[in-house]
Amino acid sequence: MSGLIMENIRHAFGESQILKSVSLVAESGKLTCLLGPSGCGKTTLLRLAAGLETIQHGCIKLREKLVAHSEQGLCLAPEKRGIGLMFQDYALFPHLNVFDNIAFGLPELTTERRDWIEKSLVRLGISKHRNSFPHVLSGGQQQRVALLRALAPQPEILLLDEPFSGLDVTRRAQIREETLTFLKECDVAVLMVTHDPDEAMFMADHIVIMKSGKVVQAGTPVQIYFHPATAFVAELFGEMNHFEGIVKNGQVETPLGAYSIPSVPDDQKAKVLVRMEGIQISMGHNKTAHQDKHLTFGHIHEVYLLGRSSHLHVHVPGPDNSDEVILHVRVPGVLKPEFDAAVTVWTDEKQVFVFGVDDTDT
Ligand code: ATP
Repeated sequence: MSGLIMENIRHAFGESQILKSVSLVAESGKLTCLLGPSGCGKTTLLRLAAGLETIQHGCIKLREKLVAHSEQGLCLAPEKRGIGLMFQDYALFPHLNVFDNIAFGLPELTTERRDWIEKSLVRLGISKHRNSFPHVLSGGQQQRVALLRALAPQPEILLLDEPFSGLDVTRRAQIREETLTFLKECDVAVLMVTHDPDEAMFMADHIVIMKSGKVVQAGTPVQIYFHPATAFVAELFGEMNHFEGIVKNGQVETPLGAYSIPSVPDDQKAKVLVRMEGIQISMGHNKTAHQDKHLTFGHIHEVYLLGRSSHLHVHVPGPDNSDEVILHVRVPGVLKPEFDAAVTVWTDEKQVFVFGVDDTDT
């Protein structure tokens, strides 16, 4: 069942058209992530869903019920929509203790809701802070209080705007995981804004990618990561190796071999993007290292140890033995080969993406 449906949403601030006909669905019991670069309109879309911005064009339904419709002049106030909201600064009330912050949005503190709050405080490990004021809590504890406050009135949909961006890196992964488990137990539709692709991949059932006020692709994390519709979507998930060439016989040549691109006619330009982690290496020059038509030989030039992975610059011959090109390669763990060490290089085909150069995202 759809928790939230937004159809044909357009929105301008003054002369600037921020949202250009955006439609999306966030299903009940699922977590939908809005992912995109800063300024692409994610928060504006969330604020429209919440009723914090007046709708200018399009319509919004929550659990099949119309809550905003530009042509009907309908725009229900936030408190009439049955939504829970949580912003990146948590916005806790400094003069209320933890329990009272959580209970603040309840029309009536029933025994059932009181029990839910007490149990949830225990469940999220903050029951000993029940009577504390926000200023004595850590960022992670404040985040949990804000989450419980948003969920306490049992909203149809929970809207989260960058809920983990205020947390330090070491705590973020753990709190993200705890939050996800808790949200799954609550069985609520969640729409979450983030500009962190790792966060979207980890948390989302469904990812909606936005660019310049438009949706450029929507799908499961696996669909988005392994079948990006455009180069922009592919590049959201980290640095890529870029090659450009002219299509001949339906193929484009790269230093890693030829790749098919049936969608682009011969003599047109095409580009090939290869993820850093999509390039595999083994030490030495060995033609039988891998059964791959994209096997080539190279030499190590730079090595950067990042702890969990190593970032290598590998020099390989260009197509048709033209000038050398530098491949950026990420391998798991610590690898510190000698300068100029010989390596055999091939690709994981699932991490190679071929596009026409005219493929645009807008
Ligand atoms: P970020 O990830 O940085 O939060 P975002 O994708 O959420 O970005 P929005 O906050 O929706 O983007 O902003 C989109 C554009 O709209 C930005 O250029 C922003 O400056 C502009 N904008 C947002 N709110 C207003 C407003 N109330 N008045 C004028 N311009 C606004």
